[in-house]
Amino acid sequence: MAGPFSGFLVTLRQIFRRKVTTQYPEQKRVKPQRFHGRHVLNRYPDGMEKCIGCELCAGVCPARCIYVRGKDNPIDEPVSPGERYGFVYEINMLRCIFCALCVEACPTEAITMTHLFEMSVSDRDEAIFTRSELLMEPDGSVPHPQPDSVLFDRGELQVADGWMRATAPAGRAAYEGVVAWTPTAGAGLRPPEPGQEGESPTGDEPVDSSPEPGAS
Ligand code: SF4
Ligand code: SF4
Repeated sequence: MAGPFSGFLVTLRQIFRRKVTTQYPEQKRVKPQRFHGRHVLNRYPDGMEKCIGCELCAGVCPARCIYVRGKDNPIDEPVSPGERYGFVYEINMLRCIFCALCVEACPTEAITMTHLFEMSVSDRDEAIFTRSELLMEPDGSVPHPQPDSVLFDRGELQVADGWMRATAPAGRAAYEGVVAWTPTAGAGLRPPEPGQEGESPTGDEPVDSSPEPGAS
């Protein structure tokens, strides 16, 4: 007889435990700083596009899910500060493995990843993000493929241009407190890198043999 009741006992014990369920989507957990969310194509603070259509991101992508075509900038009305700009830019989100190699390869910090992860689609074609979905608005907010998304109401797209840096200088103690990236339009400067000082999980003093920022 004890068998079935011991099962109920397990259930009963859970009732009095602290609930860990997050009431998504009303509540969202804060993502780690380097979370790999959906991509965004950045602009300079003056509104010019950072992408120069060099196709390095497409070349490095292990999933072959980026398609870029570069085009010469119009002399009278240049789109980017370079010779060319990416007049076609597409990412197939169904194939993307969110590795961020495209972010690493980009020489102008044009392609970066946000903390946005809600990308459900009702058609496979919608999963191919084009310039309309990727290129940030002049006010620094991120476009979204679904115009009725609750993300608009909550203002999450206005603060979603979170520039992430996956490798150095982030994580190098020599860069602690140094703002090492270009500000994005609308959102202003990111806070400086927090660095690693005093954060060693092993309790060891962090060792940094890298050169100081700006040292040649
Ligand atoms: S995150 Fe990785 S898989 Fe996705 S587009 Fe960039 S390089 Fe390709
Ligand atoms: S996003 Fe960067 S790497 Fe890709 S084409 Fe544009 S400038 Fe080149």
